[in-house]
Amino acid sequence: MDDPVLEPGSILLETVASEVCGTDVHLFHGQLAGVPYPIIPGHVSVGRVLESRGVEVDALGTPLGTGDEVTFYDVHETCWSCWHCLVARQPNRCPSRKVYGITYSARDGLLGGWAERIYLKPGVKVFRIPPGLSADQVIGGGCGLFTGFAAVDRSGMSMGDTVLVQGAGPVGLSAAAFAGLSGAGRLLMIGAPESRLELARVLGVDETYDLDHTTAEERKDRVLSLTGGRGADVIIEAAGHSSAVPEGLSLLRDGGTYVIVGHYTDAGEVPLNPHVDVNRKHARILGQWGTDFHHLARALTLMARHTEALPMERIVGKSYPLEEAGQALADVEALRVTKALITP
Ligand SMILES: [Zn+2]
Ligand SMILES: [Zn+2]
Repeated sequence: MDDPVLEPGSILLETVASEVCGTDVHLFHGQLAGVPYPIIPGHVSVGRVLESRGVEVDALGTPLGTGDEVTFYDVHETCWSCWHCLVARQPNRCPSRKVYGITYSARDGLLGGWAERIYLKPGVKVFRIPPGLSADQVIGGGCGLFTGFAAVDRSGMSMGDTVLVQGAGPVGLSAAAFAGLSGAGRLLMIGAPESRLELARVLGVDETYDLDHTTAEERKDRVLSLTGGRGADVIIEAAGHSSAVPEGLSLLRDGGTYVIVGHYTDAGEVPLNPHVDVNRKHARILGQWGTDFHHLARALTLMARHTEALPMERIVGKSYPLEEAGQALADVEALRVTKALITP
């Protein structure tokens, strides 16, 4: 594809790295409704400014010039005038939203990260990567970084809380890292495989329970014994398997908060006991749908200050050239790598 003609307020990036996330695997299998195939996948990406038309600062007012490394908020065209945007103040449910790498067709232009160039339309929210933070750290968590941050934010956790994360993919790992920075008193994770749990411990998780080598009964005994028989204060579901939900609720203390963020696609139904799991437990159950720009900006600002505590670049399993994108998808699906990068 030829380089596009730049509209006023637009930016052309040279792609440094884009990512493969679980959503891309679902996209590949056609499991997301309303996607205008063919698309250029890659929603979270890092690029270098090649050229811009009249853009001198990023979304936060930081000066921006040719050669600077940036990331950008993949959601665009939020309308700011619908009921969701104006009244509910939940722009993440705005029906006008478009997402780079997901809801733009390849016919619309270079609007996805699995390409040598990315065209940032006027109004796309760009974030210049702060000094000290590397492209690998930003892309290492990828979209999971911001989703994990949003889930912790949504939980309203308090310092000292026992926080349990279900799922050891990029969302779970990122959520655990941010829960640790937010002052979790005890940080636990259920997931698999062991290589991911090892990474979780590097990111500050105190105890991990390998799904492949423990039973639900054993995990429950352990979590209850750590918490005086009460259960975890906050649980973040980042597993994406519906069976995680009843298990999670059984590990939640009375009055605790359960955030479901791992079910971005429909993983099916699961039986719950409304009396035991929700009502008598006085549980607070929340969903977190996607992210907003403020999550991205706050997550990266925080990361820039804690680069050592958040070695997100270690989540990157492997980088693939564009021609091997199919292999990257297969490796992510088979859990052979935690985070695969596409480096055109
Ligand atoms: Zn709207
Ligand atoms: Zn994603």
